Amino acid sequence: MKKIILSIFYIFISQNLNANSDIGGMDGGGGGTLPTNPAHIFEIKAVAEESRPTLLFWFNRYEYSSRYSQNTAIYQKLFKGKKTIQQTLKSLRLDVREDKPCFTSKGTEVDGSIYGTKANTICLSALRISQKVDQALVRREVIALLAHEVSHFMGSTEEEAVEIQKSIAFDINNSERNDYIDSDAVNYSLEGLRNDLAETISNLIKNELDHSYKKLDQIHTNFQKLWGLTHTVFFNYFGYRESSYEDLIRHKLHWSYIYLSGISGSNAIYFQEKYKEQFKDKDYFLLGDEALYGADHLYASEKIQKINSIKDLILQLEWIKNQIDLRVAYSYQISFDVKWFDLKGDQTEAKLNPWTQFLGRYTIQSSKCSDGSTPNDKKEIKIEQKNESLLFTQINTHSSSSELIKTGSYNTNAYVNEIGSDNENNVYFIKESGGAWSQRQYFSDSRVEKVSLEKTGTNTFQLKIENIFLSSKMNIPDTTKVCEYTGSIEH
Ligand SMILES: [Zn+2]
Repeated sequence: MKKIILSIFYIFISQNLNANSDIGGMDGGGGGTLPTNPAHIFEIKAVAEESRPTLLFWFNRYEYSSRYSQNTAIYQKLFKGKKTIQQTLKSLRLDVREDKPCFTSKGTEVDGSIYGTKANTICLSALRISQKVDQALVRREVIALLAHEVSHFMGSTEEEAVEIQKSIAFDINNSERNDYIDSDAVNYSLEGLRNDLAETISNLIKNELDHSYKKLDQIHTNFQKLWGLTHTVFFNYFGYRESSYEDLIRHKLHWSYIYLSGISGSNAIYFQEKYKEQFKDKDYFLLGDEALYGADHLYASEKIQKINSIKDLILQLEWIKNQIDLRVAYSYQISFDVKWFDLKGDQTEAKLNPWTQFLGRYTIQSSKCSDGSTPNDKKEIKIEQKNESLLFTQINTHSSSSELIKTGSYNTNAYVNEIGSDNENNVYFIKESGGAWSQRQYFSDSRVEKVSLEKTGTNTFQLKIENIFLSSKMNIPDTTKVCEYTGSIEH
C-alpha cells in the first residue's frame, strides 16, 4: 500500500476478460462490403471525440429498457457491479489513431480495442474504420463500436459486446431525429425551474398566494416539458434509478400544486376536494399507490406527505428545489464534461458524506512527498461544520484555504465529485477537472486530486494528498505526486 501507483483509484475497472476472446474489431458488428463513399478520418475522429455524453445516454437507455431482465449475465455485469457502466465510462479515455491500427491482447490488428497507449484507454483506429465504413454510417458505426469497447471494461465477453453493439446500432438506425438530446436546452429548463421555485418559495413566505399560485402552475407545466426533453424514444438523459426518482419529485410537485390550487386560483373548491379525496384521513400515501408501475416502481414505498399548511408547502418545495439544484449541477457536468458525478438524490446527506464523522482539528507534525520535494508549510487542517456547509480547511504558515465538501446539494462550481470512505477509519474526496474525451473540450488534460484522511490511532492521523495529471496527449506520460502528512487530532 506504500507503493504509489496510478491505479490506486483510477484503475478500478474490472478487466476480467476472457483470455481467449478476440477483443475489438468492427468485424463483429457487420460491415463486409467496401463503401461507395468511404468515410473521412477526420469525421470518424470528430464523432468519437464528441461521443461520451451520447454513450452515457445510450447506456441509460439500455439499462432502462432491460430493467425487467435484471438476472441476465450482461445486466449484472453492466449495472450491478461495484461500478456501473455509466460510472466507468466517465473515467475512460480515448486514443484515436489516424495512421495505424489498434491491436488485440494477442497483437491482431483491429478497428477498436481496450488496449490503448495508456491505462483505461479505448483505442480506435480511424484509419481502419475509414476503409470500411460509408460516410453516411460513421455516426452509427463509431458509437456502437465504442459501446462495444466500453462494455469490455465491465467484463463483457465478445458475444455480449457484439450484442450491445448491435442493439445500439439498431436503435441509432431507428432513432433518426430522436437520437439527440440538447444538453443546453436541458440546462436552460432546469435552471428556469430552480429559479421559478425560488421565486415561488419567497412569495409564499411573504404570503403572496396569487403570485405563488401562478408561478407554481407554470412550474408544474414546465416540469412535464423537462421530462419530455430528457426522455426521447431512444435516449435517456438520466439513468433508470434517477429517472425513477424524478418520478417521485414529479408526484410531490403535482400534489403541492393541487394543494395550492385549493387555496388560490379559480377552481379552489374542486382542488380542495380532489386533495381531500386523495389523502382521505391519512397523513400520506405511497408512490406505489399512484405511479404508473405501481409496486414495481423503484421508489414504490416512498411517502407523499399530506400538506396541512403553507409552512408544510414551503418545506416540500424547498426539497424539490434542492433536487432540481442537484440536477442542474449534474447537467452542467455532463455538457461541459467536468467529470460528471453520480446523482444520489435518494440518499441523505449523512449517508452520503462520511466526513461529518471526522470533524476536528488535525495538527501536522511531519510530512513528505513522493517526488522528494519539500511539502508546503502546512500546519493544520480543520474539518468543520458551518451552518449548512462542511468545510475542509488547510492552514499554512502565511495563508489558508477552504473547500466546501458537501454533497446534499452540490456546488456547481466546485469540482468535488466523489466523496466516500474505504473503511470506518478513512474518508476521502476527489476533485477532477478536464477530460480528454469530452464533448466540448476535446484536447484538454485532466487533473485529479484525491484527499484522504485516515485515523491511525486514538489521536493520530495520516492525511494523503494525491495529485494526478492525465495528459490528453498519448505520448506524454501521466504523472502522480503524493504528499503525506501525519500528526495528532484535537476534537
Ligand atoms: Zn470485442
